Amino acid sequence: MEEFEEFDDFRDRQSTIGEDGSRVWVYPKQPKGKIYNYRKLTSFALLAILFAIPFIKVHGDPFLLFNFLERKFIIFGIMFYPQDFHLFVLSMIAFIVFVVLFTVIFGRIFCGWICPQTIFMEFVYRPIEYWLEGNNNQQRKLDQSPLNFNKFWRKGLKHFLFFMISYITAHFFLAYITGIEHIGELIADGPRNHIAGFVGLIIFSVVHYFVFAKLREQVCIIICPYGRMQGVLLDRNSIVISYDYKRGEPRGKYNPLENRELAKKGDCVECGSCQAVCPTGIDIRNGTQLECINCTACIDACDTVMERVHKPKGLIRYASERSIADKTRLKFNIRILFYSVVLTGLLILITFLFSIRTEIESTILRQKGTMYQEYDSLHYSNIYLIQVINKTREALPVELILDEPAGEIKIIGDPLVVQEGAVGEAQFLLLIKKSDLKSSNTEVEFKVLSKGKEMDEIESTFVGPNSLDKK
Ligand code: SF4
Ligand code: SF4
Repeated sequence: MEEFEEFDDFRDRQSTIGEDGSRVWVYPKQPKGKIYNYRKLTSFALLAILFAIPFIKVHGDPFLLFNFLERKFIIFGIMFYPQDFHLFVLSMIAFIVFVVLFTVIFGRIFCGWICPQTIFMEFVYRPIEYWLEGNNNQQRKLDQSPLNFNKFWRKGLKHFLFFMISYITAHFFLAYITGIEHIGELIADGPRNHIAGFVGLIIFSVVHYFVFAKLREQVCIIICPYGRMQGVLLDRNSIVISYDYKRGEPRGKYNPLENRELAKKGDCVECGSCQAVCPTGIDIRNGTQLECINCTACIDACDTVMERVHKPKGLIRYASERSIADKTRLKFNIRILFYSVVLTGLLILITFLFSIRTEIESTILRQKGTMYQEYDSLHYSNIYLIQVINKTREALPVELILDEPAGEIKIIGDPLVVQEGAVGEAQFLLLIKKSDLKSSNTEVEFKVLSKGKEMDEIESTFVGPNSLDKK
């Protein structure tokens, strides 16, 4: 990109850090345009989902619950216990691979459209700021003005609203950990009876408020690990928000009386609109940068300008670096097809892992240190221990039958009933006719049933006297 050499100084510093190392506050102009409207709709839909989910119940339990304190997890209405940890780890690995592949091909689309940081910042907190403090220039002036009544009430009300939104949001986030009923109790009983919950709420509210009132784009630029990974994930074929430098350069001011082709000027009219709306304060014309969160604000801003100067839209657009260099439009190519197939495969794997998850998990082991017993003149017996993990929401009576070979099971003690989310165990005797045993080690197959429904199949061995092997 030899065209950019004269603008290369952007690489020496970060847009939000001044010469003296101090923070440069970003005052982005409020975006307007088609994509911004789509993002607004998407964001409101996602916010509605975020705040509605804690109220959704499946069989009386939350749809989603991440109770780290009591190690209880409910995902899409399915209850997960510590015994499902392998499933959780596998799903997480598949999810990370999915994110990596998705980013390699589609760049940071997630950041611009789905990330809660962007949604809360651009569609909750920033609009309040525009409403109370005016547009970006008015905000700058207000910040530079000495403290007076006008500044006091505007800033005061803004920070009060910011904190109240953070406080309300904290209740919902906590509802994902402890359940909405617990939050209801906390509100009804007051902080004195729920000190720990109340302290958690306040800590979360303060952090949330601080992130959106002060940290803002610094979260995306400095803190977010996903943002920091972009350097290794993106390549020339990744689809990102790109400035078409082939078309835009050499840039030059707009003059309606001038023929730009004859004047050897590109389509960029150097209006600065793309930079003015950027929430991370960068100039996308310098190429893909770590700070870019793919918010699309510069696309809308530039499209508006292109319309005004009667040029085609899309000087800034979703495109790969290669498609711009080769002057080709983005096409569905083999690479996109390949990654899409891999991504779909991973989604199928995750779904499969969830679908094969059984409602109970059982193990049957021969009692340690025991051999066979001569039960009576016709039978030998072995003693076993059965362990059952009940992952359902109800107590389960457990029945055991011997599938192969023929034999009889005698449970020692009371019939086994395993409570919801608990591990139950029982000892039992397996009796097999002496005449049916052909060796000292016989494969046996059990079926675990509950309420007449087959829940599991387990194999084990039955030992008999060594003399059986000599027959
Ligand atoms: S908005 Fe478009 S025309 Fe204006 S400076 Fe940016 S790229 Fe150039
Ligand atoms: S460069 Fe454009 S897409 Fe990237 S953060 Fe700035 S405005 Fe958003």
